[in-house]
Amino acid sequence: MAVDPETILHIQELKEKHNAVIIAHNYQPPEIQDIADLLGDSLALATEAIKLDADVIIFCGVNFMAETAKILSPEKKVIHPEPKSRCPMAAMITPDALRQMKARHPDAVVVSYVNTTADVKAETDICCTSGNAVKVIKSIPEKKIIFTPDKNLGMYIQRFVPEKEIMCWDGFCGTHQNKITVPRLRSLKEQHPGAEVIVHPECTPDVIDFADKVFSTYGMLVHAKTSETNTFIMGTEKEMCYRLSQDVPEKTFIPVAEAVCQNMKKITLKKVIASLENLEPEINLPMDILEKARIPLERMVNIGRGK
Ligand code: SF4
Repeated sequence: MAVDPETILHIQELKEKHNAVIIAHNYQPPEIQDIADLLGDSLALATEAIKLDADVIIFCGVNFMAETAKILSPEKKVIHPEPKSRCPMAAMITPDALRQMKARHPDAVVVSYVNTTADVKAETDICCTSGNAVKVIKSIPEKKIIFTPDKNLGMYIQRFVPEKEIMCWDGFCGTHQNKITVPRLRSLKEQHPGAEVIVHPECTPDVIDFADKVFSTYGMLVHAKTSETNTFIMGTEKEMCYRLSQDVPEKTFIPVAEAVCQNMKKITLKKVIASLENLEPEINLPMDILEKARIPLERMVNIGRGK
C-alpha cells in the first residue's frame, strides 16, 4: 500500500528539521522502502552512510546493521526505530564463545560475516559480506580461518578457496535455511519453467546446487538488470522481490512466499515517524567496542565488494 502524501510531507518536514536521512535494508517492508532515501545491502548502507551529509541516520534494518552504521560514522546520531528488531543468526555467537574458539586455534584468522553484533566484531580480524566473502578470504595469507556465524555461507565460500581450511561457526539464518528448500524451488520452477532460479549464499548446500545462480542481494540487482532472462525465482527474503520490481519493473520476480524475516518486519512506518519526532532509540556503543569493531569493518571496506 502506497504511503499517503500527508505522511510523506510530515516525514519530509521532520527530516529537514533534524537534518536526518532514512536508510533501509532491501528486506524492509515496502512502505519503509518507499520512504527511504537510501536502500541497499548491509555493506552499501554502512559505507554510504559515511558519505551522507546528515546529522541523524534513521536506520531501518536489524540491530547489527544500525550498530555498523554507528561504528563507521561515530559522529552521527544513529537511531534504530525498533531495538527488538534483531538478527537471530547474529545472536548465535557471543564474544566469550568466540574467544574460547580463538584460544583453541591461535593460528587461525577470524573472519566474521557483517551479520554479527559489535562486540563479536571487536573479536574479529576482518569482516565480510555475502558479496565479498571470497575476496576477503583470498586476501588473507594464513591457511586457517574461523568463519562466523553463518555455516552455510562458510561452506559456500569453501568451494572457491579449497586451499584454505575454513572452520565454520554453527550459525544459520532461519529464513534462508528453513524456508527456502529444494521442494519449494522445484514447485515454483514447474509453475514457471522458463524462470532462472537465483539464491542467496545463506541457503543450504542442496539449495545452492539446485540453483542456476548464487548472488548476494547486490549481485541479484546487478544480474537482474543485465541478464537477458525476464523471469526469476528468487531464493532470498521475500521483500527483495519488491526492491527488484521497483528497480527493474520490466521483469518478473517470483518470491518464495514463506521466506519472511519477521525481525526485519518489526520496523513499521509508525515507529519510523516516532523516531524522527523524538530522535530515539539511539544506538550507543562503549568506546572500546566501537574502536575495536571499526578495525575489521574498515579492512573489509578497503577490500571492496564482489558479487
Ligand atoms: S534474513 Fe536472516 S540473516 Fe537477515 S536479518 Fe533476518 S534472520 Fe538475520
